[in-house]
Amino acid sequence: MARKRGAARDHGAVRLPAPEEAARALALLDRARAPLFREMRQLAERQGRRPAEPEHYCCTRAQNRMRISTLEALAIVQALHRVPELRARLAEVRARVQSERALIRDSERLQNYECPLLAGTRCLVHRTAKPIACLAWNPGVEISETGWQALAERDRLNDKTIGKGWELKAIPLLLAKYLDGAGGAAGAPPVGGGRRMRRQRRERSERPERRI
Ligand code: SF4
Repeated sequence: MARKRGAARDHGAVRLPAPEEAARALALLDRARAPLFREMRQLAERQGRRPAEPEHYCCTRAQNRMRISTLEALAIVQALHRVPELRARLAEVRARVQSERALIRDSERLQNYECPLLAGTRCLVHRTAKPIACLAWNPGVEISETGWQALAERDRLNDKTIGKGWELKAIPLLLAKYLDGAGGAAGAPPVGGGRRMRRQRRERSERPERRI
C-alpha cells in the first residue's frame, strides 16, 4: 500500500517521524540545549583560561564513549546536509563514520571511539546539533541537575516522537545508519525511558572519570 505523504516511516527497529513532526521535536531538543550552553559559559568563567584538560580531548578514542539518541542523530544529519560549512565536509565526516563504525559493535554498550565529528580540537556540530550528553558532560565536574533534566527531556522527546524502541548508541553507529538514509541492523532490544536514565546514572557513578 502506498505510504501517505508526510507519514512516519519505519526504519529498522524504530519509527522515524514525518518531516513536520521531526521539525517540531528537533526545535524542542534545541530548546533543551540552551541551559547547558549557559552552564558551560559559567563554568568556563569560573575555570578562567585553564580548562581541566586540552580542548575536546574527551572526544578522542582515549576518553570518548559518548552515546546519542535517534533524534540527536537526525539533528546531526540535518545539520550536515543543510549548513553549507558542514555540507562541504560531509565526505570527510562520512569517511570517518565508516572507519569508526568498522571498529565497534552494533550495541548499546559503552565503547571507546574517536568521534567522527571532531575536526582537530573542534566539534563540528557545536552550535548546530551538539548532543545533550556532550553539553552536559564537562571534564572534572559532576553532571549537574540541569544536565540530568536536559537528558530526561531528550529521552521524553525521543519516546514521544520515535516510540519507546529507540536506543542510545555510539555516534558512528547511528550516523552510519541515518547519514545516507540507509537502514541498519536492528541492534539490541529496546530499553524503556526511565530504565535508560537509571542505567546512565549507574554507569556514570561506576566510572565517574570516564566520559559517558
Ligand atoms: S559530537 Fe562533538 S562534543 Fe560530542 S563527542 Fe563528538 S566532537 Fe565531541
